[in-house]
Amino acid sequence: MTTRRLASVLIANRGEIACRVIRTAKRLGMRTIAVHSEADRDALHVALADEAHSIGPAPAAESYLRIDRILDAARASGAECIHPGYGFLSERPDFAEACAEAGIVFVGPPASAIRAMGLKDAAKALVAKAGVPVVPGYHGARQDPDFLAAEAAAIGFPVLIKAVAGGGGKGMRRVEGPEAFADALASAQREAQNAFGDPRVLVEKYVLSPRHVEIQVFCDAHGNAVHLFERDCSLQRRHQKVIEEAPAPGMPEDVRAAMGRAAVEAAKAVGYVGAGTVEFIADGREGLRPDGFWFMEMNTRLQVEHPVTEAITGHDLVEWQFRVASGETLPVGQAGLAIHGHAVEARLYAEDPDHGFLPSTGPLRALDLPEGEGIRVDTGVRAGDRVTPFYDPMIAKVIAHGATRTEALDRLADALGRTRVAGPKTNVAFLKALAEAEEFRAGRFDTGFIDRDLAGLTAPSPHRDAAIRAGIRALVARENPPAAGSPWDAADGFQLSEARRQVFPFVLDGEPAEAVLQWSASGPSVEYGQAGPEPASLAVIEAPSGVLVLSEGRQIALSPPDPFAVDLDHIDQGGTIKAPMHGRLVAVLVAPGDTVVRGQRLAVVEAMKMEHALTAPADGTVAEVAAEAGQQVAEGARLITLTTEDAA
Ligand code: ADP
Ligand code: ADP
Ligand code: MG
Repeated sequence: MTTRRLASVLIANRGEIACRVIRTAKRLGMRTIAVHSEADRDALHVALADEAHSIGPAPAAESYLRIDRILDAARASGAECIHPGYGFLSERPDFAEACAEAGIVFVGPPASAIRAMGLKDAAKALVAKAGVPVVPGYHGARQDPDFLAAEAAAIGFPVLIKAVAGGGGKGMRRVEGPEAFADALASAQREAQNAFGDPRVLVEKYVLSPRHVEIQVFCDAHGNAVHLFERDCSLQRRHQKVIEEAPAPGMPEDVRAAMGRAAVEAAKAVGYVGAGTVEFIADGREGLRPDGFWFMEMNTRLQVEHPVTEAITGHDLVEWQFRVASGETLPVGQAGLAIHGHAVEARLYAEDPDHGFLPSTGPLRALDLPEGEGIRVDTGVRAGDRVTPFYDPMIAKVIAHGATRTEALDRLADALGRTRVAGPKTNVAFLKALAEAEEFRAGRFDTGFIDRDLAGLTAPSPHRDAAIRAGIRALVARENPPAAGSPWDAADGFQLSEARRQVFPFVLDGEPAEAVLQWSASGPSVEYGQAGPEPASLAVIEAPSGVLVLSEGRQIALSPPDPFAVDLDHIDQGGTIKAPMHGRLVAVLVAPGDTVVRGQRLAVVEAMKMEHALTAPADGTVAEVAAEAGQQVAEGARLITLTTEDAA
């Protein structure tokens, strides 16, 4: 292979990763070419690139996943290489092949390596042959429920069912005992079929007190391979990473060396070239041990959390990707790599921790991302941009680097405290609570950490009522602008002798609420909730519908009462089951005429990466089913109508 400097790159992605790749490409003097869907016409990655090409409508299947349109754009722009980022086409061997056929360099591993690692069952068999320890389990071809249940019993509960084509935590179910196995299997297979078009699963031992520790590997096309140490991604919710760090707390040198070796072996076993990550699951019950970790999968792409590795090694992994893609050897060997300090990354999402972390969409009315010593922020949005339901709702990654783990976590917590997002709800407060959690800071955690204390980590602030009072004051001021005067100036002949009390109805995060205003000559004072001091951080932002109060990483929405809302509620009578968000209706479990009991599952909607069961709010009878399984549904769409006892 000869070295050929790549002078231009098309980035087949969007959002923060497209922006991040463009930044390095520009530093290397490359011409940058963006592609975008119609929804992303004005996106940041488009603005940053030297040129941009539209590749279709908003849904990813019609734009960012269209190999033909992306290659057309590459040919039209003369792009010499294509960087796929992560997600989308990054792990599609047919895309890597199509690039090669078009004479365009794919910045990633050979198609054969992607394919070899693409299915978890085959990957496990392959690396096991190379001497890498794998999680005990069944990863063969048989899929009949009775057989798999028997395998699960033989492995020993708890077990984990995984989609062989899996990714992003989809199609994965932990099963505690034999009685729950059949249901979990059916649901995992359904989710796998919907997400990957492949219902096949494997069953493996659920490792106890699990720590997710992964190794960044890099190989060039000349047979050189190194690892860039580990990342600990054990802070997860629903098998999805929330906070990642490097190095792993409590990592002994001998375990690091053993894991690094195993990762490099796994990469070599598939003839790997470029950046990859080998994920291991470790039994954390007695700390990390050389014989206590097992291969889970290899991600054949740049990983979301790669910045923590960049922070501790001082190397730009995207630059390495371009160098390797152009045929150069790795810039340094294993002996030239060292760990400097500690780095932590938090994934800032537009989601609502108070309502099951459902994605939260809409315009970003304010966006203040932190800066400062040791802080890096990777984002793909600006204030005024819109978080749409079409793509991953990540707003930014906040990365903190320090001399020690404590310093890195302090910097992260402080940076999150200075992060302000208005519009969509976000997980900032949740992330900050995690960065400050004592047990986590002490290094005592595993992948169950978040779930064990979800209530504590999402607990309302003690200053919530005070923050709401600030919002009410802003709402009153808005409803009674100074020019119009206070209600007190009303020409009703009333003389101001004593304070007048007024009930002030408003809408608080979608629910009707009431405050009492005490009007005096100096204006209103507000009575609402528990008295107490104002929170340390407080900002009130005007929105078309009312005001948004930002306080301690949380957003509270206040608006005037909507006279029509009452009527709608009345018509609904609690019998209408609506889609809680944009998504895909994956199952309808009832038919007209069925009687249902309160809490019974009626339908399942899948949005982003999760299934959400819709349950009956009351006992009743199914009057109408207005949608079909398989259909895309819009947020608020009426799916099922029940005749409930109340409404009857
Ligand atoms: P990583 O292992 O790089 O940290 P994740 O495990 O979080 O990444 O996600 C796995 C892959 O799924 C990533 O490539 C990511 O881009 C992709 N992904 C993330 N969110 C979504 C989504 N809502 N729909 C489809 N793919 C997604
Ligand atoms: P994905 O493709 O969705 O990333 P992985 O196989 O990497 O799937 O697993 C995702 C997460 O599920 C891991 O990070 C880990 O927290 C958990 N997990 C996977 N396998 C096991 C196991 N055998 N025991 C315990 N936890 C596991
Ligand atoms: Mg994984």
